Amino acid sequence: MDLGLQGKKAVVSGSTSGIGFATAKALAREGAEVVINGRSPQRVEAAIARLRAEVPQARLIGVAADLSTAEGCEALLHAVPQTDVLVNNLGIFEVRTFEEITDEDWRRFFEVNVLSGIRLSRHYAKGMKERGWGRIVFVSSESALHIPTEMVHYGMTKTAQLAVARGLAETLAGTGVTVNSVLPGPTKSEGVTRFLEEAAAAQGVSVEEVEREFFRTMRPTSLIRRFAQPDEVAAMIAYVCSAAASATTGAALRVDGGVVRSIV
Ligand code: NAD
Repeated sequence: MDLGLQGKKAVVSGSTSGIGFATAKALAREGAEVVINGRSPQRVEAAIARLRAEVPQARLIGVAADLSTAEGCEALLHAVPQTDVLVNNLGIFEVRTFEEITDEDWRRFFEVNVLSGIRLSRHYAKGMKERGWGRIVFVSSESALHIPTEMVHYGMTKTAQLAVARGLAETLAGTGVTVNSVLPGPTKSEGVTRFLEEAAAAQGVSVEEVEREFFRTMRPTSLIRRFAQPDEVAAMIAYVCSAAASATTGAALRVDGGVVRSIV
C-alpha cells in the first residue's frame, strides 16, 4: 500500500528511541523527509546514523531541542518552520504513589507530555490549514482510559491529549488537516526496557519474570499477552499520517494489544 507520503515533511518529537524512532523509520521508508528530535546533539546524531543504516535512502534532518520548555519548542519551530505531518510522540512516565506526586511533578508532566504537543500543533496547524493538507497525531496511551494507580499524573496527561486532539480536529473541520490520537498499550521501547531491567534488579529476579508478573497482575486484560514492539505501534501511526487515512479524524485509535476491554 502506497501511503502517499513521498515528498512530505514530517516532524516526530522525541524520536531518538522507542516508538518515536520506529515512527521516524516508518515515515522515512515511505519517502517522507523526517525531522529527528531529542534533547542532545549526540543522541540525535546517533539516531540518524542508526536510521541511515536501516533506511539508506532516508532523508533526515536532526534538531536537538528540549521540547519540555517554550524555548526548546521555539528552537525547533525556528529550525523547521513548517511541516506536513506532526507526530507528538514525546512523553515521559515514572512510577510514583499519588501521595508522592508533588505540585512540581504535576506541572512537569503537563509541560512535557501535553504542552509540548500543544505548542507545536498551534504553530504547525496554521501552515497545514493554509496549504489544505496536514496530519497531526498525538501519541497517547491506553493509560488515558485505564488510569494507572501507580502513576495517576501520567494518566492525566494521556487523557488530556485525547481532549486536545479531538478539540483541535473540530477546529480544523473541513480544512484537509486531520488530527487523531493513537493509544499504544505496553510497548517494549528503550524507556520500558530500562524500567523492566531496574525492576528485575531491585527484586532479584529475571526480566522475563517481571514481564510475566506485569501481565498477570497489572495488565491481565492484554489479548496479545506480551509487549508490542515499537515497529508494531509505528505501523499504525504511519498509516494515520498517510494520504490514505484522509477520512479518519477526531479519532482515538488503539494499538494496545486489546488491553482496553471495549469493543469500540
Ligand atoms: P522512550 O522513553 O523510549 O523514548 C522517548 C523519546 O523522547 C526519546 O527519544 C527521548 O530522548 C526523548 N525525549 C525525552 N524527553 C525529551 C524532551 N524533553 N525533549 C525532546 N525529546 C525528549 O519512550 P516510548 O516508550 O517510546 O514512548 C513514546 C510515547 O509513547 C510517549 O508519549 C509514551 O507516553 C507513549 N506510550 C508508550 C508506551 C510504552 O509502553 N512504551 C505505552 C503507551 C504510550
